[in-house]
Amino acid sequence: MSIHVPETFGTLVFGDKVMRERLPKDTYKAVKRTMENGKKLDSSVANIVANAMKDWAVEKGATHYTHWFQPMTGITAEKHDSFISPTGDGGVIMEFSGKELVRGEPDASSFPSGGLRATFEARGYTAWDPTSYAFIKDNTLCIPTVFYSYGGQALDKKTPLLRSMEAINRQAIRILRLFGADEGVRVGTTAGPEQEYFLVDKEMFKKRKDLVFCGRTLFGAKPPKGQDLDDHYFGAIKPRVAAFMRDLDEELWKLGVLAKTEHNEVAPAQHELAPIFTTTNLATDQNQLTMEMMRKVADRHGLTCLLHEKPFAGVNGSGKHNNWSLATSTGVNLLEPGDSPSENAQFLLFLAAVIKAVDEYQDLLRVSVAHPGNDHRLGASEAPPAIISMFLGDELTGILESIENDTSYDKKDTSAELKIGVHVIPRFPKDTTDRNRTSPFAFTGNKFEFRSLGSSASAATPNTMLNTMVAEELCQFADELEQAKDFTAALNTLVKRVIREHKRIIFNGNNYADEWVEEARRRGLLNLKTSVDAIPSLLAEKNVALFRKHKVYTETELHSRYEIMLESYSKTIHIEALTMLEMAKKDVIPAITSYSKALADTAVSKKAACGGVSCELECRLLQKISGLSACFYDKLEALEKAVLGCKSRTENLELALYYKDTVLAAMQELRAVGDEIEALIGEGYLPYPTYGQLLFGV
Ligand code: ADP
Ligand code: MG
Repeated sequence: MSIHVPETFGTLVFGDKVMRERLPKDTYKAVKRTMENGKKLDSSVANIVANAMKDWAVEKGATHYTHWFQPMTGITAEKHDSFISPTGDGGVIMEFSGKELVRGEPDASSFPSGGLRATFEARGYTAWDPTSYAFIKDNTLCIPTVFYSYGGQALDKKTPLLRSMEAINRQAIRILRLFGADEGVRVGTTAGPEQEYFLVDKEMFKKRKDLVFCGRTLFGAKPPKGQDLDDHYFGAIKPRVAAFMRDLDEELWKLGVLAKTEHNEVAPAQHELAPIFTTTNLATDQNQLTMEMMRKVADRHGLTCLLHEKPFAGVNGSGKHNNWSLATSTGVNLLEPGDSPSENAQFLLFLAAVIKAVDEYQDLLRVSVAHPGNDHRLGASEAPPAIISMFLGDELTGILESIENDTSYDKKDTSAELKIGVHVIPRFPKDTTDRNRTSPFAFTGNKFEFRSLGSSASAATPNTMLNTMVAEELCQFADELEQAKDFTAALNTLVKRVIREHKRIIFNGNNYADEWVEEARRRGLLNLKTSVDAIPSLLAEKNVALFRKHKVYTETELHSRYEIMLESYSKTIHIEALTMLEMAKKDVIPAITSYSKALADTAVSKKAACGGVSCELECRLLQKISGLSACFYDKLEALEKAVLGCKSRTENLELALYYKDTVLAAMQELRAVGDEIEALIGEGYLPYPTYGQLLFGV
């Protein structure tokens, strides 16, 4: 079946084209103003938009609508209402008012709020975010919305992201003005999140409680072949996977998601989808849709899509590389070096802001990707370490060094002095900058790639942090430069100072090497190894001040997020521990006993049949398995005891630390013995598929 992409693209989106066609001119203009400048829609306009949206959606077969929002669970939530409205004569009409479009009141008392809502005031409100287009999914008109409490505190991930985009816009405009930009120019941030995932056979998936309950395997001996040969990376795509990818692309295109590249990743059964970048808000929404569609489409193909960061121990995990940049409303990428001296000076100033931000707010970048799944991935020689540093490439680093030292960059041509704003900086070829895959935060020619994100997490928080911290640096720069008598000289001084004070964050070497951990320590960089180490950063005084100043999170909101993150950490490990105990008792032990019985029975019948025959194999194996089984049972009891120990801990940080240091450690010990036993017992005794079957079974 062939599809005509340009005609399919965005057919399920109430986007610009549909709005232009279906809305009266004035209404269309009012909506555009709201989208671009955040101007409030008045209710008469909202009514017209709602009605046009409803008519369009009903024509496309929709019967329901929902406010589509992103609570702190990190996934999207929806509550469907139908359009029907009684007519009084026993009939119904399809109706949808501006009021229903603009504001909703889901009974949302069960979403995590970190204490922001007492149960007696559990109400949460949703409000239309007109900067993200409405779309149709499962015969339902989905209206992207923010989610907040009665007191106006954000209960979601979208609100802070929108606020952070406002913050960076406010400050970046000040900088652009200094370079003579027009009134009316706006600055937004862009993101292109590359999404990694695994595909496994659905029937096999269903047999594994760990995958079903936790999204990752808790037991599993290494298969004879893993990713050792690197033969999967960009390898030919299997027909079943290719069919899935085609179907997925088509679904995403209908939803207006610019799915662009699909390829195999390093691990067997691992794949990646990269979209074309768009504004961070839309990119975040679309990434949520992408993950949802991956799951749905996989299911249709008899597959299960695993979005967990580390479904298989010893095999590369999945990330979500967040490509990030700043762009003006006229389409200029502010992280793209230019052709003229002034463009280059502007580029350097934005670059300096990012350098300073990453150095001063390493902790925020780290905490923005902190959750238990990602702990298995960061620093496991497959993903960037938990230490935040930045890769600029030798060429750009060389340029910065020459600026710092007032030397000329191009040794051959001493006339090409690198004084900012006076002399041209050499244009550097983009490809030379993208060769380091180990850095958490890499400059890739005209954007940064933040590689620490986990595959399952929303891209909202990392982008919120990035936007806010860079906004702060731009604010400081603007404060300084707006006062300057000699702009060029002040700019020069500023850039030099930033390089001198913050160059420790730049590292172009191998971030996977042990020497880097040492070197980073010498440089005084943070190494917040686990989520629990990172989460308290949310409440660091400097960070609370940052978010308050730029109106991105209130202190109350930060406290609530801190509690939610810790709580969710503990709950995740708790569920994993219980799942593991259940598998140990109901799957592994029965497998051990039946295999042991088979060995014993064989030995006995061998003896009975022919007394002199050797039963050495059976006896030795039985002995080995018995020894390991006893150890397995000890570790099982130890894990049970560890889980019970959480009862005496009430405070969230203390509890999370306990789960990390005690429960997780006990789980690892149980697993080690379990995997050793798995390798010894015969095929077919375990009721679930092995790593080999899962990874090579599609
Ligand atoms: P690689 O796999 O080498 O990192 P890809 O081409 O697969 O590179 O992915 C690059 C990603 O970066 C794409 O999603 C792309 O849309 C995105 N991207 C490109 N330019 C920008 C930009 N200015 N801002 C944000 N993202 C960008
Ligand atoms: Mg990439």
